[in-house]
Amino acid sequence: MEILNNYIGGWGPSAETRTTDVVNPASQEVLARVPSGNGTAQDVAKAVEAAANAFAEWKEVPPMKRVQPLYKLKQLLEENAEDIARTITMECGKTLAESRGELQRAIENVEVACGIPSLMQSEFSENIAPGIDEFMIRQPLGVCACIAPFNFPGMIPFWFLPYAIACGNTFVLKPSEKVPLTMMKVFALIDRLDLPKGVINLVHGGRETVDALLDHPAVKAVSFVGSTNVARYIYGRAAANGKRVQAQGGAKNPVVILPDADIDMSVKIITDSVFGCAGQRCLAASNIITVGDNGNIRDALYESARSRKTGYGLDETNEMGPVISPESRQRIEQLIQKGAAEGAKVLLDGRNAKVAGFDNGNFINPTILENLPLEGEIIRTEIFGPVMSLIHLNTVDEVLAFINSNRYGNMACLFTGSGANARKFRSQAVAGNIGINIGVAAPMAQFPFSGWSDSFFGDLHGQGRHAIEFFTQTKVVIERWPREWSRKF
Ligand code: NAD
Repeated sequence: MEILNNYIGGWGPSAETRTTDVVNPASQEVLARVPSGNGTAQDVAKAVEAAANAFAEWKEVPPMKRVQPLYKLKQLLEENAEDIARTITMECGKTLAESRGELQRAIENVEVACGIPSLMQSEFSENIAPGIDEFMIRQPLGVCACIAPFNFPGMIPFWFLPYAIACGNTFVLKPSEKVPLTMMKVFALIDRLDLPKGVINLVHGGRETVDALLDHPAVKAVSFVGSTNVARYIYGRAAANGKRVQAQGGAKNPVVILPDADIDMSVKIITDSVFGCAGQRCLAASNIITVGDNGNIRDALYESARSRKTGYGLDETNEMGPVISPESRQRIEQLIQKGAAEGAKVLLDGRNAKVAGFDNGNFINPTILENLPLEGEIIRTEIFGPVMSLIHLNTVDEVLAFINSNRYGNMACLFTGSGANARKFRSQAVAGNIGINIGVAAPMAQFPFSGWSDSFFGDLHGQGRHAIEFFTQTKVVIERWPREWSRKF
């Protein structure tokens, strides 16, 4: 069984000999073994040293030249998209269509980062006083690290990587130890780019690798995406070590349907949002809130969820894959049980799902919990699985009060035919990504991924202009050149 290599100026083995298995969540087949343990701290030291050495040269390369490898990377990603998408499905479980979609979003970030020669341009004020000009330049930080979650192995590193290097930084990526194979494929393409050694590096491992990155003095910035508890920890430890940090956390996303919404369209979009990627999306709809008469909506949501086909993602007739691990499946099934114990009706019960040919797969079928108590725990808990909670409230003001008591603030969506209600909702909902008649309000690469509250720790988010600001530091220069110093020629 293959033990995965690191990529530190080229491929090479980890100093750590202990490993954990990378497992296909549908078949339980062991796909590879990934180094994990204290020894990975040595790998981090080596990777950060390589990145720090590369920085001296890389930061001097003109931005127009720095983006040339990204154009090539876009082309290579497109040429190898099908192979990478199959790898995402095999290690992460989502359907092939979802894997292809994820990769498309990754490529869009590469495209936006190719604009950095103009995006990095800055400001100049002539004559702030007689003979004095003032201007600001953006300079890279140095070595930047990224710690990624399991649920988008192909996309999330690209919220950071292309921007960081195009701005002149060097980069160390630690993928999730649950899904390291996707980035192994991507780094095989990165290896074909005309990049100086050490500009982009990959180290494997779990929390030991993370802690070594958070504590290394040469790491200047940390980009994290994962659960809220870990995000809070990363933010605290990296900030205490003087680093710039952006840490995106978990979510519990509300989606509201008003009586004047287009019901057929809303129901289709909402079930896709809840059950897409088996609910393992930080932008998955979770609490579905109806207002006014909800009879038709409830029945249509039930029917749409019930008819969704679960199975192995590589079989393209399936619409939903497994969750990531047996532990995750068990945790989700316990949360369903707890919701029922709190008083919810299990309108649709996806526990004990069976998929022919995949007896040990981590499958859960679509589940609907109806009328979870608002003061209960489950209505506020990130389930991260294919579970819809269906609740009913009486007015838009009640809805906003409920949404704004959410500890998370990743996304809030409204389905309506009324511009006035939409306007009020987008203005007053406490969440960083808002959808109006949209089920997954995922910002395109040119916009920041704007989580709020416990869904984000930091100031500048991933993607778009925020990425340029995060990966550069500003330097202001004030220059005096008195006219009388002019030499006559
Ligand atoms: P996770 O927090 O368990 O792991 C994320 C990363 O942190 C992994 O690389 C892991 O190795 C590392 N890690 C885990 N525990 C650690 C610890 N104690 N100390 C140091 N490092 C640790 O998250 P996950 O299960 O991989 O991903 C799912 C979570 O990510 C969900 O909560 C989801 O909402 C969230 N997520 C958020 C966004 C967003 O943009 N806000 C996007 C995707 C996923």
